Order: sequence, then C-alpha cells, then structure tokens
Amino acid sequence: MHPRVWTSYAQTHCRTKGESREDQRQAEFLFQPVERHAHIIHLAATTIVFALAQSRAAKIESQHWITKAIQRLRSMEHNFVMERPAINGVWMADQRGMRRICRTSVEQCLQPSGRTVKKKRFDMRVARRHAIQITLPAASVMLSAMDVVAFTRQLVDIESITGNESEVGDFLYRELSRANWQAKKLPVEGDRQNIYATPSQQPQPAIVFSTHMDTVPPFIPSSEDATCVYGRGSCDAKGIIAAQIAAAEQLRQQGINTGVLFLVGEERDSLGARVANEHSPGSRFLINGEPTENRIAIASKGALRVEITAKGRMAHSAYPELGESAIDKLLEALRRLRAMKLPINDEIGPTTFNIGTIQGGRAPNVIPDHARAELLYRLVGPSQSLRQQISEAVGELAHVEFSLEIPFVRLRTVDSVPAMIAAFTTDIPALSNWGEPLLIGPGSIQVAHTEGEYIEKKQLTDAVELYCAIVTKLIA
Ligand SMILES: [Zn+2]
Repeated sequence: MHPRVWTSYAQTHCRTKGESREDQRQAEFLFQPVERHAHIIHLAATTIVFALAQSRAAKIESQHWITKAIQRLRSMEHNFVMERPAINGVWMADQRGMRRICRTSVEQCLQPSGRTVKKKRFDMRVARRHAIQITLPAASVMLSAMDVVAFTRQLVDIESITGNESEVGDFLYRELSRANWQAKKLPVEGDRQNIYATPSQQPQPAIVFSTHMDTVPPFIPSSEDATCVYGRGSCDAKGIIAAQIAAAEQLRQQGINTGVLFLVGEERDSLGARVANEHSPGSRFLINGEPTENRIAIASKGALRVEITAKGRMAHSAYPELGESAIDKLLEALRRLRAMKLPINDEIGPTTFNIGTIQGGRAPNVIPDHARAELLYRLVGPSQSLRQQISEAVGELAHVEFSLEIPFVRLRTVDSVPAMIAAFTTDIPALSNWGEPLLIGPGSIQVAHTEGEYIEKKQLTDAVELYCAIVTKLIA
C-alpha cells in the first residue's frame, strides 16, 4: 500500500531543510496521516526545488516557492502533488520526468503507519512522528528529469557563432560534470574546444552521439510558444545537443553507456571535427545529429567547390578587337558548365550546382582583363569524373581550381526509422575514425540558417526516444 495524498491541507504541512544547498541531498517532510491510510504530503515545491537547486542554485533562490497564496492544487498523480506556484517556479524542469523520479523515491521511503487518525485538524505531534526523510538519487537528477525544451533554450541563449564557442562549451562541460559525467575539454584552437563526455564507468563507449555547438550569424535569442522553440541554433543544432544529452542520460540509467561529442566549427570548416578525429576513443558507431526531421539519412551529399578564373587583355572599349575580354570567356565557360549533363545516382538523386559568385571587370569602358566565378556542386557519388568533365568543358577559356571537397557519404540506416537523403554536408566525413556513421536529428534543415529558425517541441522529445531506440538496436 502506498500513501495517497489528501490535498486539502497539503500546503501547510511541510518542512524541509537543505533544499537549496548543493551538498545536501536529503529533504525532510512531515506528513499528516488522515483517514484510511491516506497521508498528506506536500512534496511539490520542496522536492522539485531541491532537485533543481543541485544544479541551478542561483536561479532557485530567486523563486519564492513557499507562497502564502498557494492556489488550489492543480494536479495530482499517485502520491505526488504539484501545485501551481511550484509549476510556475520550475519552468525549466520537466514536470513529468521529475515526478517520475520523485515518486520512486517517495515510494521507497514511505512506511505507511497503518494508523487511522480520525480528527481532521492537523496535529503537529502526530505529524512529527511521521516525519520522513527522502533521499534523492545522488547523480543526474537534473539530466534525467531534464526538460529538453528548457535546455535547448538555455543553449540558444548562449551566443556561439563560429569562432565563439567557448562559453557554450564551458556550459555543457559544467552541466555534464555536475551530472556525474566524465567530461573533457579537447582544445581545438585558442580558447575554442570540443566537449567530450562519457559515463565515468565506461570511458570508451562503443556508440557516441555528436553534433556541433557553433551557429551561423546573427545571434537570435530564444523564445517559445505552445509548439515551438525559436532562436538561432534552435534546430541547427542546439536542440539536437539537448536531445542527445537527454538520450545518453536515459540510456546510462538503463546501464547502456554512450558518449557525447560536441564540436566547434561545423558551420565553417569542420575544424573541431578534424581535430577530434585525431583523438578517437575507438567507438564503433557515431550517431551524428543534424536537422533531418527525425528521419535517418541514407546518405549525405558531398560538396565540391570550384573556382573558375579567366584572364584577358585590357583595351579601350571603343576598340574591342585590341583587347581580350575575360568576362566573355568566363560567360562562355559558365554556359558550357550549365549545359553539362551532371551525374545522377538512382537512389540518391541528381548532382546539383550553383554559381554562387561572379566578379570581374574594371569599368564599362574598359575591356576586362580579369573575371572569376565560384561554384558549388552537391555530389551524389565520387567526384573524379565530374572534375574531369568540368576541366574539359572549361578548356582553355579559364583556369579551374577545385578548392574544397567534402565527399559524398553513404550512411548506416536502421530498420523501421523513416529515411531521407541529406542534401547538405556535415561533420561526418571529417570524423572517419569515430566509427560507422549514422545521421539523424530533430528539426528541419529548411528553417536552419533562416531568420525564423525554430524547432518543434514534439520533434525534440520524440528525438530522445528515437536516439535511445537506435542505440538499443545498434547494440542488439
Ligand atoms: Zn548543422
């Protein structure tokens, strides 16, 4: 038999100690036995605030969780009551998750008295005899009860445009360490560092989650409504960081050890990934997160950057026959490239390309001696023959330089998870030493990098379950 909550007196009959101190994990409650084994317990604010205080002392102190004007109890679940002020006060806590943990603790600790107390008036002496102590789980209270939505917002609110990732890295390092993860800062360049964390009992997990901490500019602070979280990085990729941590924590509690790797520089040159690749712990699988709307990518398209530079000879534009137009040559080269048939992969789709920039010329009355264009091809296979075709098409008209290639990658899929093709590039090619890659994450790439970037809350919470399910399948 478990005690039930009798809500009518609940607000008056509690006493706690140590609830905002990080070094104390015990909270003491008084409860009042009432009729038929029902006991009054006021756990709401106390327990939640206590747990939260372990990781967020500063914020908790500003919350007046004991309020004289306690509103009516709003929700009751088994023997655990949440009341409105507590709910308001713990906006950052996942109430369901917290309730789950607290209920387990309470059920273990409460010894029902079996007494029947008839009188309804609260009797302090009776209550004292029934004082109980609840010991909250020592580690990871915060992460296991973590609200991925609130955690996403916290991450979004730390600006981390590429090059400026150190603060968000420090934050993640702190949060993970505090939850008893073995967190490490892996220096990349200056004060920029990757964050890598593993459960302390397993420093070399077979499966590692990864994504990036940096965002594109400009910084946009977080906001939310009933269905979405908004702000820079909400979907690319801070919501993913939150979902991966929540999943890794959930798995750890089931005895399944995974690592988390958060990288700098993905949006520019994958520098963080390239440095991390030299320090692989030898994992078998890498679950990389980018916004794929929770579908698993069967491949990620590659990228080939091409610079076409044409040279000419200046002359007075009244006498074009005396000069040689670099722009004319470049235009002809581009015309040929646009007419070129690009490779198609039956499963993945076509290679696409974009002429991203064109520069050239000096003045309307000067035959241009210089012109240049930058192109980006999205690859659906090896680039060898495409490179050759491009060079042949341009011929003598201009100089062709292949300035960057991120290869096309085929990825591991998981049965029963809907699939997609990632047209964008990721850190995956640069993380070749971290095991066989998978790519999946909440959020849509179509809103990434936009002014209205957002992530659906449902996708965030679904992603946690999905990540856990994928890990379970991979180790099966
Ligand atoms: Zn991204």
